[in-house]
Amino acid sequence: MSRPILATVDPQALRHNLGLVAGRLSADTATPARIWAVVKANAYGHGLEAAVRGFATADGLALLDIQEALRCRELGWRRPILLLEGFFRPADLGVLARHRISTVVHSHAQLDMLAADSSVSGIEAYIMLNSGMHRLGFQPDEYRAVFGRALALQAAGTLAAVGKMTHFARADDDLAVTRAQLDCFRRVAADLPGPVSACNSAAVLFPGLAAAVPGADQWVRPGICLYGASPYIGRHAATLGLRPAMTLSAELISTHVLPAGEAIGYGHAFRTDHDMRIGIVACGYADGYPRHAITGTPVTVAGVRTRLVGRVSMDMLSVDLDPAPLAQVGSPVVLWGDGGPSVDEVAWSSSTIANDLLAGLTHRVPRRVACPAAAA
Ligand SMILES: *Cc1c(COP(=O)(O)O)cnc(C)c1O
Repeated sequence: MSRPILATVDPQALRHNLGLVAGRLSADTATPARIWAVVKANAYGHGLEAAVRGFATADGLALLDIQEALRCRELGWRRPILLLEGFFRPADLGVLARHRISTVVHSHAQLDMLAADSSVSGIEAYIMLNSGMHRLGFQPDEYRAVFGRALALQAAGTLAAVGKMTHFARADDDLAVTRAQLDCFRRVAADLPGPVSACNSAAVLFPGLAAAVPGADQWVRPGICLYGASPYIGRHAATLGLRPAMTLSAELISTHVLPAGEAIGYGHAFRTDHDMRIGIVACGYADGYPRHAITGTPVTVAGVRTRLVGRVSMDMLSVDLDPAPLAQVGSPVVLWGDGGPSVDEVAWSSSTIANDLLAGLTHRVPRRVACPAAAA
């Protein structure tokens, strides 16, 4: 039998979360924004199959990798697909045109590649403004000239629609910074034609932000919230109405009783202060469980919420079985998801965010898509 660890992905939860976002947007914006469901990094670790199914009613999918875009087409996705970092080489352009893949354009190098290729036509492009995140995009003082160049490429047929895009650095924790970025976007691009896209999960779920984005044809780009995790540190996803889409489960593969004063695992990082029953779980950092999770990180064993103790090893971790006296070898363990702690709680106990844990689940963890019949 295979090692007892499994990631179960629930397309119904994906659908629920997408519906929640859509509901928020139609309550919030006069013309409801359309939704690019962000499915980069293999749908934040959930697998593209489940994502294409769960996000069947999204207006588009957004991702980074042309191979993943082609995989979505193979899986039957017919609506728009957006490459969030755009293309990388001239040879990519033919693939974009053939498979109707839209692209972000954030650099002069990309514009030059487009201008140099007279064989491609009809590519939809979003011109990225660096409104203050200082990652990708054109500077505010050059943006309008660049946009003009894109409109010329549209007139020449190389590009189809040309849209405007920016990305927020602190939509999760600093409204003043986000408003300053929005002001910059408005100042530079409000009167330019075409669709507009700015909001990630944190912005989409913040009341009033999507409505403040200038432009009638708005597309939002939520990612993490669609998977049922929170975009805000300290704010639980359940309080936002989100449902976890991934459950990471395993089993106890050993238990033992230790007297007070014994130390556990690598570095002997945890020492018992009373007689304690300890369980060993078939999950470690080579599966994607965070090595930096601290003692006390919640874990559910045999339906009882308990805690991680000591250092996480490559293939195993230790848990306190005192609250779960009935737990034994073979008992179910939920590391995060349905019936266990939220992935956010585990992330916050590891000084990271849920995106990191979900996208970091490794290949050796088998994934199963839940209830395929009900989700069809
Ligand atoms: C990843 C990404 C998103 C989605 O971000 P979330 O915080 O997961 O909602 C949106 N836009 C861009 C450009 C991204 O790279």
